Amino acid sequence: MAKLTILEFPDPRLRKKAVPVDTVDDALRALIDDMFETMYAAPGIGLAATQVDVHRRLLVADVSADKDDPHVFINPEILEKDGVTVTEEGCLSVPGYYEEVKRAEHIRVRYLDRDGREREGEFEGLLAVCVQHEIDHLDGKLFVDYLSEAKRSRIRKKLEKERRHQAAAVVA
Ligand code: ZN
Repeated sequence: MAKLTILEFPDPRLRKKAVPVDTVDDALRALIDDMFETMYAAPGIGLAATQVDVHRRLLVADVSADKDDPHVFINPEILEKDGVTVTEEGCLSVPGYYEEVKRAEHIRVRYLDRDGREREGEFEGLLAVCVQHEIDHLDGKLFVDYLSEAKRSRIRKKLEKERRHQAAAVVA
């Protein structure tokens, strides 16, 4: 297992649209294991392949307090949405920022599991929010896209400034 590097906003690679996974094999399962390791270490509750610069439709999530309820969604497709919930969201690709985002409260999703079996499931609460956030990543969308242009550009400038400071520290 290996920890992967997480891309950070405004990296243009976060804007790529992921393509469907065609084969669920051991190489994909190794990537899934690395994604869980990366997500738990961060720590985070969800991670999309896009965030580790792999542009295939795959995401992992675990919203449990004890980190013992891992979910894998390959080629996820939202079939139904209903209700509205507002959650303060964060993102491993937008470190340090939390903002309220409105999403569906319940979703029904069709996906493949880590063995490549087709499944359908209904999710609600934080897991439903997390899956919607991660599917957005697969479409090149970030939670900051739901904020005003002014707020998004403020976050972008602050993150760019922090990164320049980090780079300077490495050189110094
Ligand atoms: Zn995210």
